[in-house]
Amino acid sequence: MADPFAATKDAPFWWDQAPRDAIARPDIPAEADIAVVGSGYTGLSAALTALRGGKSVVVFEAENAGFGASSRNGGGVGNFPFKLSYGKTAEMLGEAGAQQLWQEGKASVDYLESLLETEQIQAHFVRSGRFLGAHKPSAMDGLRREVGVLQEKLGADVRMIEPADQQDHIGSEFYHGGRFNGGDGVIHPAEFHAGLLDRVRAAGGIICDGTRVTGISREGAGLRINTERGSLLAGQACVGANGYTDGALGTLERRVIPVASQIIATEEMPEEQVKRLVPRGNMIIDTKRTVHYYRASHDGRRILMGGRPLLKNSTPQQAAPHLRKFMVKVWPELADVPISHAWGGKLGFTFDKLPHIGEVDGVHYACGYLGSGVAMSTYLGHKLGQRMLGDPAGQTALDGRSFPTMPFYQGNPWFLSIVAAYYRIRDSIG
Ligand SMILES: Cc1cc2nc3c(=O)[nH]c(=O)nc-3n(C[C@H](O)[C@H](O)[C@H](O)COP(=O)(O)OP(=O)(O)OC[C@H]3O[C@@H](n4cnc5c(N)ncnc54)[C@H](O)[C@@H]3O)c2cc1C
Repeated sequence: MADPFAATKDAPFWWDQAPRDAIARPDIPAEADIAVVGSGYTGLSAALTALRGGKSVVVFEAENAGFGASSRNGGGVGNFPFKLSYGKTAEMLGEAGAQQLWQEGKASVDYLESLLETEQIQAHFVRSGRFLGAHKPSAMDGLRREVGVLQEKLGADVRMIEPADQQDHIGSEFYHGGRFNGGDGVIHPAEFHAGLLDRVRAAGGIICDGTRVTGISREGAGLRINTERGSLLAGQACVGANGYTDGALGTLERRVIPVASQIIATEEMPEEQVKRLVPRGNMIIDTKRTVHYYRASHDGRRILMGGRPLLKNSTPQQAAPHLRKFMVKVWPELADVPISHAWGGKLGFTFDKLPHIGEVDGVHYACGYLGSGVAMSTYLGHKLGQRMLGDPAGQTALDGRSFPTMPFYQGNPWFLSIVAAYYRIRDSIG
């Protein structure tokens, strides 16, 4: 076929339906009850909870509102947003701690759903489930064990899908069966972000976009928020910068590992074709270490394929041919379908593979969602808001954990290329 990337837009498909606001740079007020750094789900969710609790809130955003992962992601909403197995978290946190943590995974999706309902945000959220494909026959054994654990420990709505029944979940022979997570879902990520942003503004929140925070220091009983355009005195502050955390945010930069992830979208196809490829419109991921995540678009007209096929510093343009190659392996019939959009964003990883919420030098933070943050960042952002309101409901199973770093690590993850190479070798030997 002709070059499939000839007309590819270098921007998220989601922005076609939910365009980003141009930067407005409003005046920075002298004071506010609460300052929030970052205008993604974490920051806006914290802001909305604080505003609903009667506080004045200013949100600082270095770029335009929603510039980060929150308007760029795949829109998969998962009840099990942890990179570690249940058993591993039980080793780390004890059985009761693991129970509580994994219940919070489910609580995060329930919270997201209730927030959409309460705030009347339309974002094409559907509990369509999620199919986790076994990339080799033996991967079914691991999935079977996990299903047993998740059912026994959490009463989770998960079940095995035998190869003969796979066509109900993906119109492809690529996998060897898999697992289905019934309570998971999909959302239009940028519509969700735009809805949150609108509610924050409507509740009186001020969004100081185009305003990078350069440092936060104690001043009297409050905190001085310094930015490139002036400063503000806040009673309290929180940071939701995740994969975009930089040196201005002090010690957090040494603890969050920015990891690039990319997505491509196909041109529109007939609805019947997309329905045949993804019959339930659910998210699909697989058991490979170099994981791919993919789905039908919210309108059922395209396939969106995401992953981290290359090393950290790759651009969406470099990653796109690799994502397309994988897509055509799964569905050879897509070999002739042009790619309409290719884009990327940054995830926040952590050294202990768990998300973190806490406080450092009087500043609250939540981050480290390891690529599964749509529901978790919204939920932990809400917890940040509750904490700043002094509400004990702001406690979580993640409280009190130290936030590890690595000697000499300063926010430049040189080791990712080694990890990626190792994962590719493991995947290639099956
Ligand atoms: C390509 C991609 C696909 C993904 N797919 C999924 C998925 O399918 N399912 C899922 O659950 N999760 C997914 N994720 C992860 C999810 O999007 C994130 O976990 C979540 O959006 C994090 O939200 P956040 O508000 O913490 O951070 P972000 O949305 O990244 O926002 C952080 C913001 O902080 C701002 N900022 C940083 N430093 C400063 C500063 N000093 N001053 C002012 N502002 C600052 C940045 O400009 C940025 O806008 C994906 C992420 C990416 C990139």
